[in-house]
Amino acid sequence: MPALTESSPETPFSSGGSEVRSTGVPPLGALAVASDEVMSRISSKPLDQTPWTEVSAEMEHFRAARATREQEVREARGRLSGLAPNQAKMFDAYMQSASPLLRTKLGIPEGMISWNTWLAEEAADSQVLDVLKWHTDKLHSQQQSPEFGAEVEHHKNKYALAVEAAVAKGWIHPEGRQAAVEVQGMSVYVGDYFNTVFKGMNAYHVPGTNEIVLGQEKSVSAAGQIDSVDFNHETNHAELGGFDARWEREATTNYIAKRLDSGERSMWPKSEAVFPEEGYSPEERLMHLVHKGGLYNVPIELRTRAYSARSPEARAEAIQKLDDALDAVWGVKNFRHIINKAVENKEQYYIEKEFSPIGAEIRAVNGVYDELLDRAEQLQTNRRLLVARLGDKN
Ligand SMILES: [Zn+2]
Repeated sequence: MPALTESSPETPFSSGGSEVRSTGVPPLGALAVASDEVMSRISSKPLDQTPWTEVSAEMEHFRAARATREQEVREARGRLSGLAPNQAKMFDAYMQSASPLLRTKLGIPEGMISWNTWLAEEAADSQVLDVLKWHTDKLHSQQQSPEFGAEVEHHKNKYALAVEAAVAKGWIHPEGRQAAVEVQGMSVYVGDYFNTVFKGMNAYHVPGTNEIVLGQEKSVSAAGQIDSVDFNHETNHAELGGFDARWEREATTNYIAKRLDSGERSMWPKSEAVFPEEGYSPEERLMHLVHKGGLYNVPIELRTRAYSARSPEARAEAIQKLDDALDAVWGVKNFRHIINKAVENKEQYYIEKEFSPIGAEIRAVNGVYDELLDRAEQLQTNRRLLVARLGDKN
């Protein structure tokens, strides 16, 4: 999915030597759980046999860990109370999978309305901590399980083969073959709800890294199955290529992800006049119109090759080919640049109107789509008139 809030990776942290990092970005409460472990380790030491200088250092350690734990638990409550109704529902369903042991330990009150409200407002710190422990452990064991490791290997190999086949067929640039090699060294993490789904994305790639994060129970099922298209999408971002304009990057990334997955030549609906909204993002609709709405069709392969060219020379050449073709069918010089600028300007307009970044982006792309559709219809009318006139002459 489009990752609007792609953030830089947080620094991995460890608690006194034991590595607690199990995902690219730690799950909600991981730091609270780690601090709690530090506290219990310190408090279980036989302090009466320890020199007083060390005791005082340990006390400092203990106090720091306690402060961290309290702050993190507070933050977790904040995140939980901020869930939208549909997210709260998802979280409830998630908590239904909690072990009976945890449920007994928590002593969930009768008539509890929702898990997130209870945790945010009524539960004691220790109860919140128990839930965070369960959550962190669950993600950690999913991440570490041999089944997940095998699933990751499977998808990496499948991706590499699909890229090779695409290069052979010519719709991915020969330089894109490198992605088939580099995917093997890519790190794949299970991201928790709070870092993915509740931020409006199924999965994301951390820019500038060789890591992708797949959202729990979205891109990775509870049983550990990885969604192929989501995997390909993020891997494309990480290894294959891109475009500067966000809408173009997302549309092309997803198109390539689907085509690598299915192996089909055409990933678009048969009818070219109307592009269904369902199942396609606004970005994909705009891309379809850009390629099919001019006087003639522009092969999508010109775009996928430009996306996957690596060296500056090859890239410039492939982009030139794409631009020349688009300019010709739309009868406008620098067509792609004009479209990108139009999306950017509209987005800015909506952001100033205080739409959310996602809302502004979608409105901007849809707005440009509508305007371009008008232009496409004009072109088609002109073409029909021209054909009719030529027909008269004959
Ligand atoms: Zn994306």
